Amino acid sequence: MAGIYIHIPFCKKACHYCDFHFSTSLQHQQAIVNAIGKELELRKAYLQNEPIQTIYFGGGTPSLLTKAQLQQILNIINDNFQVESNSEITLEANPDDLSKSKLEELFSLGINRLSIGVQSFFDTHLQWMNRAHNAQESWQCLQWAKEIGFENITIDLIYGIPQMTDGEWKENIQKTLDLGIPHISAYNLTVEEKTVLHHQIENKKSPKLDDAQGERNFNVLQEMLKANDYVHYEISNFGKEGYFSKHNTSYWQSKRYLGVGPSAHSFDGVSRSWNVSNNNLYLQGLEKEKVPSKKEMLQPKDLINEHLMIGLRNIWGCDWQYITSFGLDIEELTQKVEVLIKIGDLETTEKGFKTTHKGLLFADGIASDLFLE
Ligand code: SF4
Repeated sequence: MAGIYIHIPFCKKACHYCDFHFSTSLQHQQAIVNAIGKELELRKAYLQNEPIQTIYFGGGTPSLLTKAQLQQILNIINDNFQVESNSEITLEANPDDLSKSKLEELFSLGINRLSIGVQSFFDTHLQWMNRAHNAQESWQCLQWAKEIGFENITIDLIYGIPQMTDGEWKENIQKTLDLGIPHISAYNLTVEEKTVLHHQIENKKSPKLDDAQGERNFNVLQEMLKANDYVHYEISNFGKEGYFSKHNTSYWQSKRYLGVGPSAHSFDGVSRSWNVSNNNLYLQGLEKEKVPSKKEMLQPKDLINEHLMIGLRNIWGCDWQYITSFGLDIEELTQKVEVLIKIGDLETTEKGFKTTHKGLLFADGIASDLFLE
């Protein structure tokens, strides 16, 4: 099983916390779509004819594309890859783009999973984050999406927002439950360098983020969703049975994927490559039928460290058979894992080990302590 990721590098507004690659100038939208089509054709052998089971439009804001532009990309994928008939086709969308007619268009294109950037159901939070939508638009588009027939819907929520009370966070979760949304991706707000939020905090125009608030919000999230039969299958992802993200799960299980568009990453099992994070350079490269990208061959140590990083963030955990398959000296790693099991941060599984409920909150730190040098 393999997947295709398409990065659409445009947004209407720059959210204050975001460090993804995007441009708020939309003038080259059609040129980028054409270049993405060209890249798909040039790299059609990358996945070695493996059947495609997931297609993911991410960004940026893919819902800014017109029906014709989305159709253009899907046609090129279908013409150049072996796409399975029951493939999961996800589109990330922002509520302000999702009119009823837009949702009908997306449905008619065969998009069968929507990932909607709700972030919060409170306008005060949305304005503080500089989001382009308001709470009413979120509510409305979710109702329409369900009416039109979208069953597989996920929403993004953000917690740890400075002025958000614990009660408001609970209300955000409760509203999601009331709407019957079967999958939630919830992220702790982080401060990335070169973002407006970073600048605001440096200049004391915004309070520093409070780790204790993030921890409280995370615990409430886990409790409320568990009580409502969501499976916490990855540190930031909760889904009802049958609604886990197939595309993201395949990343976490080290399946191959082709990423196209500016800044997109690809993985073919032995190497990673990443496209230039600049729309103009991307366009210039594709005009000459060259994909501007860099490539890194992964060494056994890198593959094990990635396995630790990803495995400790999800319910499948880490696999000793995989770790030992490279023949490296893992004596120190084994000892560290034993200690972490004793103190309750890790637990054993049939195949290896995974983080406990307590350890999950510190999964990234635990993984970096375990990394092979
Ligand atoms: S819409 Fe998404 S990608 Fe665009 S700036 Fe906001 S968070 Fe970033």
